[in-house]
Amino acid sequence: MTSQIDPKTTGLSWNFDNSYCQLPSFFFARQNPEPVRDPRLMIFNHSLSQELGISVSTAAEPSVALALGGNQIPTGAEPIAQAYAGHQFGHFAILGDGRAILLGEHLSPSGKRVDVQLKGSGQTPYSRRGDGRAALGPMLREYIISEAMQALGIPTTRSLAVVATGQPVYRETALPGAVLTRIAASHIRVGTFAYAATQGDQAQLQTLADYTWKRHYPECAEAENPYLCFLEAVMDRQASLIARWQQVGFIHGVMNTDNMSIAGETIDYGPCAFMDTYHADTVFSSIDQQGRYAYANQPLMAQWNLARFTEALLPLLHTDETEALALGRAAVYHFPERFQRYWLSGMRAKLGLFTEEASDQALIETLLRWMQNTAQDFTHTFRSLGSETLPSQPFFHDETFVAWHKEWQARLGRQPQTPEQVRAHMNAHNPAIIPRNARVEAALNAANETGDMSALHQLLEALRQPYLDLPQFADYQTPPPASAEPYRTFCGT
Ligand code: AMP
Ligand code: MG
Repeated sequence: MTSQIDPKTTGLSWNFDNSYCQLPSFFFARQNPEPVRDPRLMIFNHSLSQELGISVSTAAEPSVALALGGNQIPTGAEPIAQAYAGHQFGHFAILGDGRAILLGEHLSPSGKRVDVQLKGSGQTPYSRRGDGRAALGPMLREYIISEAMQALGIPTTRSLAVVATGQPVYRETALPGAVLTRIAASHIRVGTFAYAATQGDQAQLQTLADYTWKRHYPECAEAENPYLCFLEAVMDRQASLIARWQQVGFIHGVMNTDNMSIAGETIDYGPCAFMDTYHADTVFSSIDQQGRYAYANQPLMAQWNLARFTEALLPLLHTDETEALALGRAAVYHFPERFQRYWLSGMRAKLGLFTEEASDQALIETLLRWMQNTAQDFTHTFRSLGSETLPSQPFFHDETFVAWHKEWQARLGRQPQTPEQVRAHMNAHNPAIIPRNARVEAALNAANETGDMSALHQLLEALRQPYLDLPQFADYQTPPPASAEPYRTFCGT
């Protein structure tokens, strides 16, 4: 199907088919985005727009800016702010979209249903004391990291565009404001269920559960107990997702239950960052002083969040409370095994292992321990293992590494694959390029200070094919100098 362009209105030929706003009004508030002074398109994701069947010509850019800045409501949109709750650093709170508006759900040419959300689009009934706005830097940051995750093959929400508003937002200082257009499988969160379970009645909870499993896990229709099927399916996608994070050194930073998607996508890129030097305790977020969401804690915190999800679902799991509790407990209890299976299989791939041996886990852990003790770069070390340049790496002569390398080579010798197959497998699982903090900061600083987007575009280009060694992007593979200051991130508000 070819997309049509309608420059008279929005330039974007959305194909809206909104289902969430058919739910009882308990789940949302109708709210239009608040127009902005001088909407200007800072960046537009042409390849995503093609996938969505809404591609536009550059001539349509001013009208796209109007629409994605929130100044025009596209035909078919039914703007709402979604209600939800969440445990923030362990503490329960009633939240809701305080600075985001769901325009509606778009059906892509391939029949995929996606949420179209404007983030930073003004106040809503859920804004509490917030201004409903977002700063340009954090919105561009979400754009970069989410698109990098997509290229790495990790489930994620996408970024369609960032529109500068021409209005300042006031944080510690005045910053340029912006609106991000976020595309997601949906914005239904663990916290949406916590909201239904604590603020609603059982009928409302069931309405939400039915809506959500039908939308994201239609296979549960076949199950004897669709709610248990739904619970386990969500756990499975989260187990797989968090394992993928661990395998690329991604640290989300604020894994509150309102930031955990039921569809299993990485969502809400705030203080997240990729680890350079490997250390299990790495934390980037300035507000995470206890290290609750540290790298090594992510699987545990996912389980904690899923326990909250399970609690919310309990009344639906079984009519008998004791039975429901037993089913819920079992699901939560088995999460670490689910995670471990995904983790181990991903780590085997990173080491070029096709077969399974009981000692593989120890082999992986020995390598990680050595990396931590000698402060190796996570991405660079793994990429080097599958490279012909390995013997020229400074660490190649480290005694502990030499011993590990011997063991690993012996292990590779016990599987039938050729060295070429092993190398190809490793290179498909060990990215050469990740959005390194220093690169991201440099690109954002240029965009923020002078409006110069060239470094950002270059970075995005380099991140598009992260598993290839392209000579023009060789620079992007270099780890930062060991002397670099510890990196700190701040919440995207
Ligand atoms: P986050 O930390 O981005 O996941 O946001 C947590 C909650 O705070 C959500 O309910 C947001 O909608 C809300 N929030 C964050 N920033 C703002 C803001 N500037 N104005 C209003 N609400 C906000
Ligand atoms: Mg959030």
